[in-house]
Amino acid sequence: MAEEKQTGRWGMVIDLDVCTGCNACVTACAMENNIPWVGEEDAGYGRGMHWIRVQRYWEGEYPEVSPHYQPVMCQQCGRAPCEPVCPVFATVHSEEQQINLQVYNRCIGTRYCANNCPYIARSFNWFDYSQQIPTPMNYYLNPNVTVRRRGVMEKCTFCVQRIYEGQERAKAEGRVVQDGEIVPACAQACPTDAIIFGDLSDPESRVSKAARNQRRYTLLEELGTEPKVTYLKGEGTYGG
Ligand code: SF4
Repeated sequence: MAEEKQTGRWGMVIDLDVCTGCNACVTACAMENNIPWVGEEDAGYGRGMHWIRVQRYWEGEYPEVSPHYQPVMCQQCGRAPCEPVCPVFATVHSEEQQINLQVYNRCIGTRYCANNCPYIARSFNWFDYSQQIPTPMNYYLNPNVTVRRRGVMEKCTFCVQRIYEGQERAKAEGRVVQDGEIVPACAQACPTDAIIFGDLSDPESRVSKAARNQRRYTLLEELGTEPKVTYLKGEGTYGG
């Protein structure tokens, strides 16, 4: 098997100052990645599925309260706690893109990875939700993304299908991937441009510059997971 070579160090910066909590990222992610709607009853049992969630925080006392929003997805840890606990190597590190990927046809559903993820970033398919999608909604499924089956764990991939597509297009045209050329669905849908995505190995990329902003921080930094998602602290200008 050919050895994987690093082709980028993909990362994300989320500016909480401009996030309005609109959930457009959540919807776009679900459409792009064939994430099923589990229905009210299963959601009530804690079986809801999403690869990104918008956490809400409230500041002040009613009626003088102001909301704060924080989109949270897989943080694409450089030292991922989910990886060593998988007995079948279904959650693996991609040397090529430097992200954490889930190999669905290896997953046997132990859920150890979800238990060991400090960011609660993983969703488990308790049932074959994809087979319950009523026509014509099944025509909306993205053919570039695997439709997962019952008993399989899943999570954000930084829209790896879009990364592959961008890399292949650049290769076919004999050039390198341009900064801003590859955009995950969440970033594409964000109306305030709160989500910046790009190659962290390029110090001049927009994402690298944003990651050096003095408002930067990473979630649960003290755990040493080396996340590839950086947050810019909200200063209360808008929602953040
Ligand atoms: S955020 Fe959770 S699922 Fe993602 S790489 Fe880190 S430990 Fe694994």
